[in-house]
Amino acid sequence: MVKNRRNESRLNRLGGSPVRTCIGCRERFAQDELVRLNLRDGKVVIVAKPGASVGRSIYLCPREKCFDAMARTGKLAFSRSKHNRIVVRLEETKLYILKNRFLSFIKTRNANSVS
Ligand SMILES: [Zn+2]
Repeated sequence: MVKNRRNESRLNRLGGSPVRTCIGCRERFAQDELVRLNLRDGKVVIVAKPGASVGRSIYLCPREKCFDAMARTGKLAFSRSKHNRIVVRLEETKLYILKNRFLSFIKTRNANSVS
């Protein structure tokens, strides 16, 4: 889309990293600041290594409130485009497990990044 070209060069890169939208707060961040959730065989997994995933992803900033905002609906929309979207509905128990993984993931990651 030509219309977005200008915005894309400005917004889709931040310090050399592609920019993604957190689905919790809808703010835009450099991709490597965000936690990536990937859809694999119908299961939602947290991607530990950047670039290690294929397929559809959604992004959350490493804040509990953003996870909660996403969890409130119980539905995660994985999309490559507006017309190509898979909505996954997570039960409460699965959300609970995912949240624990999310929280320990961001805790470990924060502990690892000293700089
Ligand atoms: Zn957020």
